Amino acid sequence: MDYYSSQISRLIEQLSGLPGIGSKTAQRLAFHIVNLPVEKVQALSDSIIEAKKNVRYCRQCFTLTDQELCPICANPKRDQRTIMVVENTRDMAAYEKTGKFDGVYHVLHGAISPMLGIGPGDIRLKELMARLQGEVDEVIIATNSSLEGETTAMYISKLIKPTGIKVTRIASGVPVGGDLEYIDEVTLLRALEGRVEL
Ligand code: ZN
Repeated sequence: MDYYSSQISRLIEQLSGLPGIGSKTAQRLAFHIVNLPVEKVQALSDSIIEAKKNVRYCRQCFTLTDQELCPICANPKRDQRTIMVVENTRDMAAYEKTGKFDGVYHVLHGAISPMLGIGPGDIRLKELMARLQGEVDEVIIATNSSLEGETTAMYISKLIKPTGIKVTRIASGVPVGGDLEYIDEVTLLRALEGRVEL
């Protein structure tokens, strides 16, 4: 049995399971890793294990954090009565980069997609509704302008409407299907400022 090569193939297989890593890149990375000094490899694997062990969801907004409450939710200067709903932590980071939003967030971790079989129960919607039991003035829906993002926005607004809480949607102008994280800050700010009530 070729012990060495089966170990390498296992590493290649693990790496090629990562998003954006094709089999060629996986091979290149695998050979790079086995050629590194063992301390470097240890540091790499430790950082993966530590991140996995310590990173969890914020108990309020469900972003990824290493504390019980993320720094944004824990910040007393943030307006807890204005909640911006985003699809993922990267979108939240995009809005944070503008530095102009002083409310808090709610991270859904996905969007409703009947095509992919992702329903309302598969994203953090229940948790959002639970937050609305507290004092909330406005929910800004900042899901992507893709079909899934729009479907999700409509669904959420219908759920919230009966509570009497103001529901707004960021202005279009964000390119259709565009991932929020790739949109520049000026466009994001314009979308936020131009939000319309649903
Ligand atoms: Zn949080």
